[in-house]
Amino acid sequence: MKMKHIFPTYKRFPFEIVKGNGVTLIDDSGKKYLDLTSGIGVCNLGYNTAPIKKAVKKQLDKVWHTSNLYDSSLQEKTASLLVKNEDKDVYFCNSGTEANEAAMKLARKASGKSSILAFDHSFHGRSYGSLSMTGNDKLKEGFGPLVPDIKFANYNDQEALTQITSDLAAVILEVIQGEGGVVNGDPDWLKAVAAKCKQEKTLLIIDEVQTGMGRTGKLFAYQNYDLDPDIVTAAKGLANGIPVGAMIGKTELAAAFGPGSHGTTFGGNPLAMASASAVLDILNDDFLEAVQQKALFFWHYLEKEIQPLELVKGISGKGLMVGIHLKSDIEVGKVITSLHEQGILTLSSRDNTLRLLPPLIITGSELLHAVHVIKDTLSSAVVGQ
Ligand SMILES: *Cc1c(COP(=O)(O)O)cnc(C)c1O
Repeated sequence: MKMKHIFPTYKRFPFEIVKGNGVTLIDDSGKKYLDLTSGIGVCNLGYNTAPIKKAVKKQLDKVWHTSNLYDSSLQEKTASLLVKNEDKDVYFCNSGTEANEAAMKLARKASGKSSILAFDHSFHGRSYGSLSMTGNDKLKEGFGPLVPDIKFANYNDQEALTQITSDLAAVILEVIQGEGGVVNGDPDWLKAVAAKCKQEKTLLIIDEVQTGMGRTGKLFAYQNYDLDPDIVTAAKGLANGIPVGAMIGKTELAAAFGPGSHGTTFGGNPLAMASASAVLDILNDDFLEAVQQKALFFWHYLEKEIQPLELVKGISGKGLMVGIHLKSDIEVGKVITSLHEQGILTLSSRDNTLRLLPPLIITGSELLHAVHVIKDTLSSAVVGQ
């Protein structure tokens, strides 16, 4: 199909997904796929998921929009599931970009400072604020001038610590860079960054838009590293596909976000909240433990079957967030297309990386099947084609 009336901001694959169930998607020709994308880390609980569908349908029959001018028990319930027993507040919006935009505004207003330190190869969104904090010059081309007072440091670099000074409003980072090539933050480095932020009284913003919602086996990936961020942003997996974003900040910051300071028409919409609270109900400790077990199993086979392959440079990630780094002999796009033919949907990321973000409900045998198909594809790939 030629999409004649849509701005061509995306290069699309020439098929349409028309139906989904569990971890299976079906295209417009009736072809079935095992999904290892979750719609870019969104449908973490799969497709057509009964408890989520039920919660949304129930709310659909009551009321689907009211604005933020009235109390919302659904927002309060979702927020309490997000912050657990911590002294934190939530601002709901509609996307990861908006969550990071809110984080940037809150950090500036609460600190009274303007400078923000971000990292090379980071991705925080496409609006002026979030794009300005994104460490990818290609995405900024032609859009200048951007928001001033944003500085960059190298990710995982000790030198970056010297750039964390008391004149910064905030430091923003992903603990695993998703769009940047599935780059794991070194645990010691992450801790050192967090410690330096505390020492310099600089706010630490952790962007969990891709790594959050159970993706790494914890509700938030930073919980793997014993960090204590001042602000956390979430979106993608939070409502399993109904648009939503959340900025979670320490309650001590709340005075800077008083009535009228920031706002949104759709943010915290009842349908999104019904879905998000159903998602968070499912992401309990037992569920997350099961994700960790599945990930252990997956990583065992990734290391045994994929890592040794001629075309593979290395594998990175954590939990069910995986980057298979391919040598330059083969283009990741070709691998993705070949996997489509074999009924598997995958993603790419920076630097010729094959990225896997399977729904968290995938089974061990489905993961094993994926490993074998990826192995066969990479083994039989014609180098240089
Ligand atoms: C996807 C993503 C965003 C942007 O989220 P949108 O919902 O597309 O605005 C921000 N940060 C990270 C880490 C992401 O992966």
